[in-house]
Amino acid sequence: MPHERVPTRCFKDYILREIHDPDLAYYLQAMLENLAPSALLYPEVFPVRRPDRRPLELEARAGYLCIDTFTPLTHNVWRAARAAVGTALTGAELVLEGNRPVYALTRPPGHYAERGVYGGFCYLNNAAAAAHRLSCHGRVSVLDIDYHHGNGTQDIFWHRGDVQTLSIHGSPSLAYPHFPARRRAR
Ligand SMILES: [Zn+2]
Repeated sequence: MPHERVPTRCFKDYILREIHDPDLAYYLQAMLENLAPSALLYPEVFPVRRPDRRPLELEARAGYLCIDTFTPLTHNVWRAARAAVGTALTGAELVLEGNRPVYALTRPPGHYAERGVYGGFCYLNNAAAAAHRLSCHGRVSVLDIDYHHGNGTQDIFWHRGDVQTLSIHGSPSLAYPHFPARRRAR
């Protein structure tokens, strides 16, 4: 099928604050300045019993904001994650301009990144950014066909009626992220 490659457009960071906690975006951005070019930072301490006590040291805060032990931070993570969001947003803009179908090829992937935490090689949620952008023009459905549960996209839109999230995935008993989907409080 003939296709056209389109350069990624610029976007303002305010859209990141509309889908992610400012803490997460600040943290990833701060690591761009604080990590040496050769450094790989994996979380070591997970203060899950004291969520009210955020570690003050940036390096120790990784376990406070990350859901697993295999999503490293490097000094380029912010730049890469932000570029992936920009690619998804460019796709959304092209759809709004009447171009269909549009395919946004992004790495890092994005769908495990929740509103306030990152993990599963995902730092910012690209699909959520695109869905949020498209929701200004009507109701949106996100169909996640990855084998693993799209916990991040679901988390971001859990309390919103304008974006529906559907995830076809393997049982969390067998597959990452190994925790079940959120259930509505009774
Ligand atoms: Zn997957």
